[in-house]
Amino acid sequence: MWTDKKIKKILLARQVKPLFTSSILSGLSNIFAVALIYTLLDAPDYATLPFAGIVFFALARIFIARHYLASSENNLTAHLYIYLTLTLFIGIFWGVFEFTQYKVESIQLRNIVMLLNIALIAGSITTLYSSRGVYLAYILPQGIAIIGVFSLHSPDLIVYLNLAIIIFMGFMIASCFNMNRIHKKGIELTYNNEQLIGDLNKEIGVRESVQVELEHNKGELENKVNERTKELEMINFDLENVISEKEKAEESLQYLAYHDELTGLPNKNLLIDRISQSIKISARDRQQMAILFLDLDRFKSINDSLGHAIGDNLLKQVAFRINETLRKHDTVSRYGGDEFVMVLEKLKSYNEAIQVAKKVINSLIKPFEIDSHKIHIGASIGISVYPTDGDEPTILLRNADTAMYRGKKAGGNQLQFYDASMSNQLRDRIELENELHGALENNEFYIVYQPQVSAKTGITTGVESLLRWNNAKHGEISPDRFVPLLEETGLIYSVGRWVVTEVIEFICTHNYDITFSINLSALQCNNHEFIDFVEAQISKAKVDPKKIEFEITESLLINDFETTKSFLDNLHTLGCTIALDDFGTGYTSMNYISRLPIDVIKIDKSLIRNISENNNLRSIVSAIVTMSKSLGMKNVFEGIETEDELLEIQKLDGDIIQGYYYSKPLRGDDVEIWLCDKSVEKET
Ligand code: C2E
Ligand code: CA
Ligand code: CA
Repeated sequence: MWTDKKIKKILLARQVKPLFTSSILSGLSNIFAVALIYTLLDAPDYATLPFAGIVFFALARIFIARHYLASSENNLTAHLYIYLTLTLFIGIFWGVFEFTQYKVESIQLRNIVMLLNIALIAGSITTLYSSRGVYLAYILPQGIAIIGVFSLHSPDLIVYLNLAIIIFMGFMIASCFNMNRIHKKGIELTYNNEQLIGDLNKEIGVRESVQVELEHNKGELENKVNERTKELEMINFDLENVISEKEKAEESLQYLAYHDELTGLPNKNLLIDRISQSIKISARDRQQMAILFLDLDRFKSINDSLGHAIGDNLLKQVAFRINETLRKHDTVSRYGGDEFVMVLEKLKSYNEAIQVAKKVINSLIKPFEIDSHKIHIGASIGISVYPTDGDEPTILLRNADTAMYRGKKAGGNQLQFYDASMSNQLRDRIELENELHGALENNEFYIVYQPQVSAKTGITTGVESLLRWNNAKHGEISPDRFVPLLEETGLIYSVGRWVVTEVIEFICTHNYDITFSINLSALQCNNHEFIDFVEAQISKAKVDPKKIEFEITESLLINDFETTKSFLDNLHTLGCTIALDDFGTGYTSMNYISRLPIDVIKIDKSLIRNISENNNLRSIVSAIVTMSKSLGMKNVFEGIETEDELLEIQKLDGDIIQGYYYSKPLRGDDVEIWLCDKSVEKET
């Protein structure tokens, strides 16, 4: 353990420190002892020198000790040796003094001095134990002197006394050595503990600094991660911007690629796309579609004379007016120069295309005002229809263009179908329209009645009134042709009222206990004056309103439910019954039907036609029957032509049957015969 020289030195310094610190105490005890003995002995001459020596060396030793303690820089070994030497001198002077005691006559006095000396030897352990050498230097000269004195003065007791003094000295030395050893051990232990604590503190310090460094590194890492995240976010943000700008650019490129810059309308590219799409949809839904090819009359001369700026402005206004005229789902495009093309989807009839074309032409006839110029232009429109005139965009466009040229040649502000026969049809239609205006006055309308027979009993339960038109020029015309014309021309209101009067008159003259149904067109159902009219007719003719049934179609329900509901409620309140016609051809929700005062459901003939081939259809029809019954409605199956169909309906538990199988619609007189044959009860 005492390997390192430095450690040895440190430990030695600590070990002998009590020696130096107790120098005053030990010095003073020597001086006091000297003073005491000197007084006791009455200051003998022989003692003066040794006592003076003792005092001198004791003071010198205090000085040396103080000197050593004054600075930690001081040389330990030198001071220790000086201290040892001075102590040796003190010991020797004491020894010399002891030895002089043989001169003292009084044994008591001498013994007191001896005892004092022995006490000094014993007491000095407490101040000198930290250095065995110093202790020995102090006590050995005295011990030797005491033995000498005993030998000279007490020859008889010499052996005992000397033995006693030797044992005492031995005991003192052993005690000193023991104290010294314990002291040394304590110092070593303290030192080791100090080292240990130092090491521990160092370890803690190291750990703390490592911890601090770790924290620091962690913080730095976090900062770096945050910085990096921010950077990435910035990059991401920039990237998003770049992407969105790119998208915008692409969008505007896309827009430019598909739109006319001047008017913002779809251009030729987009038009062809749309036509292709429409062709697909029309093919799927088995519908017609019309292409209207419009060319402005006199545009070139306006452009040449008034300048391009005005020409451009005019085109914009033309585009605006055309757009205003069309329905939302129709497409208008600027095809080029002063040409515009319109696409009309879901075309119900050619007539619809005619109406749109007429509207567009009329909208362009009104003068345009541009920069204080009043400009009159006109337009020619050529029409081609899918699928009749082609099933490809380019063909349909070319044919519409051809038709437009023909219109232009004919003098402008014209509309022309591609197919010559269609143009004929158009002419026919216009003629027919003219004829229709006079039809009521000329008594060209008449009514036929088709019987409705109970599927279970075969008894006739009612008749449906069906309007007929026999025109002087065109002969019999089908209601499928003229009813739409009546609606378009608004003649339906007057003709509708005429039907009501005719039927009520028929009821009154025949007086059968059956229902007489009257077909209503959608337009009539928006008209509440019609209800007043019916009410007036009923009360005038005093006819039972229960006998009158009004048939409305499903499409009516979809248009404006609330208006229709209030119309039907009013009609129902009069006492008339309501039948829902052509059921199964539309998409009426049962929810609607249950909220309306409907008494009868007329199941469309298309459902019955296909029932034998389609089991799915059979279950649908069966469900309709069940449902109508549960809602307290009667069901009428229309268009029954064969016995098989009749049997099918009987199986389905259908109520009433109407169709050629029993009877075609009959003229008034024939109805009379029919009803008699069937012995339908006549009211009295
Ligand atoms: P609707 O109301 O569905 O009338 C039934 C149509 O089916 C009638 O055609 C009728 O002759 C026909 N029909 C009856 N049984 C059979 C059959 O077994 N087989 C076939 N293939 N057809 C049968 P119509 O008389 O030509 O009437 C056509 C449509 O004209 C009517 O269809 C109705 O919507 C409308 N209509 C007829 N009269 C009037 C009327 O007075 N006012 C209104 N607004 N529309 C009417
Ligand atoms: Ca009907
Ligand atoms: Ca029908």
